[in-house]
Amino acid sequence: MTETDRQTFYITTPIYYANSDLHIGHAYSTVAADALARFNRLRGRRTFFLTGTDEHGSKNEEAARAAGVHPQEFVDRVVAGILRLWERLEISYDDFIRTTEPRHKRVVQEVFRRFHEQGDIYKSEYEGWYCTPCETFWLESRLVDGRCPDCGREVSRLKEESYFFRLSKYQDRLLRHIEENPDFIQPPSRRNEMVSFIKQGLEDLCVSRTTFAWGVPVPFDPDHVVYVWIDALTNYISAIGYASEDPERRKLFEEFWPADVHLVGKEIMRFHAIIWPILLMALGLPLPRRVFGHGWLVLDSGKMSKSKGNVIDPHVLIDKYGVDAVRYFLLREIPFGADGRYSEEALVNRTNVDLANDLGNLLYRTLTMVEKFSDATVPSPVADQDDGLLRGLLAEVVPEVERAMDDLQIPQALEAVWRLVNQGNHYIEDNAPWSLAKDPGSRARLDTVLYNLLETLRAVGALLLPFLPHTPRRIWDQLGLDPGALEAVRLDDIARWGQLRPGTRVRKGRPLFPRIDPKEALET
Ligand SMILES: [Zn+2]
Repeated sequence: MTETDRQTFYITTPIYYANSDLHIGHAYSTVAADALARFNRLRGRRTFFLTGTDEHGSKNEEAARAAGVHPQEFVDRVVAGILRLWERLEISYDDFIRTTEPRHKRVVQEVFRRFHEQGDIYKSEYEGWYCTPCETFWLESRLVDGRCPDCGREVSRLKEESYFFRLSKYQDRLLRHIEENPDFIQPPSRRNEMVSFIKQGLEDLCVSRTTFAWGVPVPFDPDHVVYVWIDALTNYISAIGYASEDPERRKLFEEFWPADVHLVGKEIMRFHAIIWPILLMALGLPLPRRVFGHGWLVLDSGKMSKSKGNVIDPHVLIDKYGVDAVRYFLLREIPFGADGRYSEEALVNRTNVDLANDLGNLLYRTLTMVEKFSDATVPSPVADQDDGLLRGLLAEVVPEVERAMDDLQIPQALEAVWRLVNQGNHYIEDNAPWSLAKDPGSRARLDTVLYNLLETLRAVGALLLPFLPHTPRRIWDQLGLDPGALEAVRLDDIARWGQLRPGTRVRKGRPLFPRIDPKEALET
């Protein structure tokens, strides 16, 4: 089946660790997933978009103790903040899964029991160097100057009775799957990393802990809690009803599994490209179609992290610039799959150039001319006066946007839309409607030129639906269209030329994006 024949689309974000407020880097993953989900709805696919939170583990147990509250109360507070952020960014998720929910915990226990029964999980003793903040055991050979290779902190010798999962048993099958499905791990640079990691040989994975209690108990050995891998990763199936007692929820699983895209940050690629597929193989389930590892947002002071204290609060940016500008910047500026540089200056610049100048001016100038030369109503185009230029470009742009979104190349999809915007602005210069208006013999040509500009804006508004939550409605409203009708628009309709009815009154409003004074904005 080719990509364009598919009827359903299931996309997930990582589940974020519910330990503190999220920063702009987390917002980036979620906004990208949201754009892909909205795009697939626009193309008429039944879409399921899942996000959520990973809530167990010793870090939260300790943080709760320090705050003097029960761990559940602690994570409830953090999750409330995360939900507020998604609301402000207008994230259109279909479900939000929390690993502390009974519907999830039941599946984790079920899966753990099954692995144990079929011999994939066995009990043994683990001795090694343990980094408490990272919750990770390290082999002696992996330590750097006797310290944790991830965080550089001190490690301690620890001996623990644990359950282990036989990763090595599935190693060859996984390698074969990766070779036979070149799209499975993306981008290709990440695939190569994963393949060489697997080829070094997989060690069995420690999948339970007795060092903390805030987790899902191992059903047949309650001194142990299930460790993060099996607990967190199974969210992708528990949320859509895997092994559910409710037949309606099981139907959801039948419909949407396997996932089309697991979108993850590159630092958790190994869990999603190695551990998760092996767990699925052990369950006899098909593997996700694509695991896509995106890059990080990098500041001049390095990677954004809570411990460095250089995080950017997305709420502040939304207050200052509005949700559409923030989303546009994230989706347009950062090459998907590679690291991107974040700076507020770049955000201001993108907003001014792309949104205020290119897009905002195209709408404003067009409507100003329609008011002046066409009595604020949509004119009637005349067939023998039509150059077909913008209509032709639109017919090219729609499939280009579709290809780019299928390849998860969101910035390229926006570039394609902007080819249309920029061509619209050139079209105004080239045809100089103000000159045509001086010559009564050019009336038919003037009407046709204005109509073509309005139709281009109608299409641009609809094409922006996956990316910007407010701008499409504002554009359609100013064109005299019903913004509510955008909900029924499908990708295949957008290129159909001639949808604006002559005689409709336009409603020119405020500029879409007022120009930001960079000096003033960056000083506050
Ligand atoms: Zn560490």
